[in-house]
Order: sequence, then C-alpha cells, then structure tokens
Amino acid sequence: MKTKILMVALMLLAMTPAIQAKSSTKTVAHRGYWKCEGSAENSLASLRKAHDVGCWGSELDIWLTSDGGLVVNHDPKTLDGLKIEETDFKTITKSKLKNGETVPSLKDYLKAGKKLKPMILVLELKTQSTPERNIELAKKVVDMVKSMKMEGQVEYIAFSNLVGTEIIRLDPNAKVAYLNGDKTPAELKELGYTGLDYHQKVLKNNKSWIREAHDLGLTVNVWTVNKADDLQYFIDEAADFITTNEPELLLELLGNVADKSYLYVLPSLTKGEEDAKREAEKLAKITAAWSDADRQQAFASFAKMQEWQQSMDDEEALAALPHLELSDVPQESRTTDTE
Ligand code: MG
Repeated sequence: MKTKILMVALMLLAMTPAIQAKSSTKTVAHRGYWKCEGSAENSLASLRKAHDVGCWGSELDIWLTSDGGLVVNHDPKTLDGLKIEETDFKTITKSKLKNGETVPSLKDYLKAGKKLKPMILVLELKTQSTPERNIELAKKVVDMVKSMKMEGQVEYIAFSNLVGTEIIRLDPNAKVAYLNGDKTPAELKELGYTGLDYHQKVLKNNKSWIREAHDLGLTVNVWTVNKADDLQYFIDEAADFITTNEPELLLELLGNVADKSYLYVLPSLTKGEEDAKREAEKLAKITAAWSDADRQQAFASFAKMQEWQQSMDDEEALAALPHLELSDVPQESRTTDTE
C-alpha cells in the first residue's frame, strides 16, 4: 500500500504545476454575456451577466455619434437601421436592443461596470470613417475613463493602429492591445502596445507569436473562441485571455482543469475521488513554493508515469514502480506520510 500511495503522491505532485500553469488563462465575455435569457450583445444586462457567471473581463464596442457622443454598440448601424456616425446621440440612445434595452451610452455602461469591480472592462474602439473621428473617439474615451477614475479597471483594444497609438500617447500607463493581426509581437512592443489580441486563426498560423509576445512582456488575448477544443487549445498554449461567446463553457473548462484533472490518471490507484482530492490538496501545499525547474522535472516524471499507467493494470503499474527515477523528482515529493 505504501508503494501505491507513493506513486499516487508522485502523480499528484507532478500534476500540480500543470494545473497552476493552465488555470492562469482568464475569461473575457465577448460583447458581454449575451447568449442567455434576457440579454443582448453590448447591453447592460450582458455586462451584469458576465460578472454574475464569474468572468474576469467583459468586452464592449464603442462608436462616436454624429454630434460627438459615445455609445456602446457593435455594428455601425443600430437594429432599426440608424447609422451611428451620422445620427445624433439623443436619437441613438433611444434605439432598442434585442432584449428591449436601449443602446447604452458609454457613460452609463462605465457606471454600471464600476459597480461590478474587480471585473475588467475591455473597451474596443471601433474604427470610424475618418482619421479625425478616430482621434476624437480615442480622446473622448480616454478622457471619460479618467474623469470616472476607472483607469485601473479598463483595458483598450482597437483594429486601427491610429486609434491604438493615440490611446498610448494619451495615457502611457494604459493597457492597449492591437486587434488587426498584421503586426508581429516585436512590432507591437516597439509601438508601445502592452498586448496583442488576435483572431484565433492568426495565432494558429503563427505558432511562435504567443511565446514571442510573452518573452517581450506582452499579454496575449485571442478572439472569438467558442468551441471546446479550440478553447482548450488556447488554454494549453497559455493565452492570458480568451474572448468568447461561451464564457460559461470556458469557465467550466478552466474549472475542470483545476479541480478534476487528477481523476483521469488515478482511476485504479486511489480509494476514490474524495481520497484523491484530499491528497491533491495536501500535496498542492507542498509544491506551492517550488522553483520552476523543480516543477518541470516533476512534470516530466508525471508524463512517464501517466504513460505507464495507461498501458498497465494496477499490479503491473506497481511492479514497474522500482524503475521510477526518484532522482528525477524533487526531494520534497518523496516524503509522504499518507499511511
Ligand atoms: Mg468587439
């Protein structure tokens, strides 16, 4: 039994770094959380629902009206066909969304968001029809955020490099990510961006960019990822943020990684789920202070054990135990007083 427990312990220990690394990805609700009852894209309800299900952040889209007002909407036109850039603020904010709300002003949206702290608001500034309007939009949004003292609760994203670099100029401390997918991480760093926020195809076609961005100290966000296998791909790739229409699915995947992943390697080696959970909790504490190198070593040992276990029954796995390279595993992991 002691050898059994040692093997279980080693597996659990070795899994801990993987669990910690994977669960660092954060969930951003795309246009709020709107695929649920009573919600609609970019509505105040979608903002609150993003908060209620536990999102780290909620994204929204901002347009400038003909008379210089700021409103939250995705498309250039409202549902009733009004072109936002050619219509005044008062008229646009009377226009209805699909859930019966009216198009929110940015001010009302930020006010509502402020109450949902610490959820982050990811502000997308939509590309306007002229460079002058792009500059005006950037200035007005940054000014409004500053006047509401919400600098610490917002991040900015834009497809337009003019808009992005203008925000950086106006607020050098702002977190600003570029959306358009046509610049390398090094180019973005040079321009002063703090992150990239690219379509998933761009990041799948340029597989080195996530690591390059991280090496440069840039954050990585990816849009709009909705399928479980794609979400898992970017969790595994250690994207900092995933922007999704399915925040509950992403949160569940992240939760499963953190809470349940040990189950698939332990079906025959523990007394049951509760037993394994207790072990995992205890051993997670031991590994909390490990160095990255120790974690990597432990992870390599785990991979070996997992391979063996999948191809063997319980007895065979135990018989193979003497071949385990205990020297591969950090000293702390060898001390177990489980039984
Ligand atoms: Mg958007």
